[in-house]
Amino acid sequence: MKTLKFNCPRCAHQIEMPFTMRGHVLNCPQCGQLFNAPNPYRFTWIYILAFALAVAFLIYCVVSQQMESSNMINRPGPDWK
Ligand SMILES: [Zn+2]
Repeated sequence: MKTLKFNCPRCAHQIEMPFTMRGHVLNCPQCGQLFNAPNPYRFTWIYILAFALAVAFLIYCVVSQQMESSNMINRPGPDWK
């Protein structure tokens, strides 16, 4: 089974836990300190989210530019009364 190894933030005792427990609240077997287990996937999700936002913004820019140019075509000319 894949495990995660890290040190307790309070007493630096080395803790080994199953990988599926990442991000869960644990308490140190040595000193009893409660803390969040490290989650190596957390940063990956931030990158995916940032990338998705960048793509959404790009699509928004393209669509709004197209809307603007189609508005220019439909807009009445200066001698249109
Ligand atoms: Zn500890």
